Amino acid sequence: MSDLTVKVEPSDTLTCSICDSEYTGWGNNAWPVNSGRCCDGCNGLVLLERLSNMNLPIKALKLGKTASALLKRGN
Ligand SMILES: [Zn+2]
Repeated sequence: MSDLTVKVEPSDTLTCSICDSEYTGWGNNAWPVNSGRCCDGCNGLVLLERLSNMNLPIKALKLGKTASALLKRGN
C-alpha cells in the first residue's frame, strides 16, 4: 500500500498570504486579493474584492457595513 498523498489536516498551522498571520483550519481562497490561501479575517476583504469585481454596489461598505451584511442584503 502506497501513500503518496500529502494530507493537510485542519489542525495544521498555515500562514495567511495576505496578512502573514498564522491561522489554523482550512483557510480561504485568497483570490483575487492575493494568491494562495488566507485566514478568516482576511476572507472578508477577499469577499469585498470579489463583489467589487462583480460591479455590485459597495458604497455601503465604506459606511461601515460588513461583508456578511452586504451578502445578506444581496440575497
Ligand atoms: Zn489574513
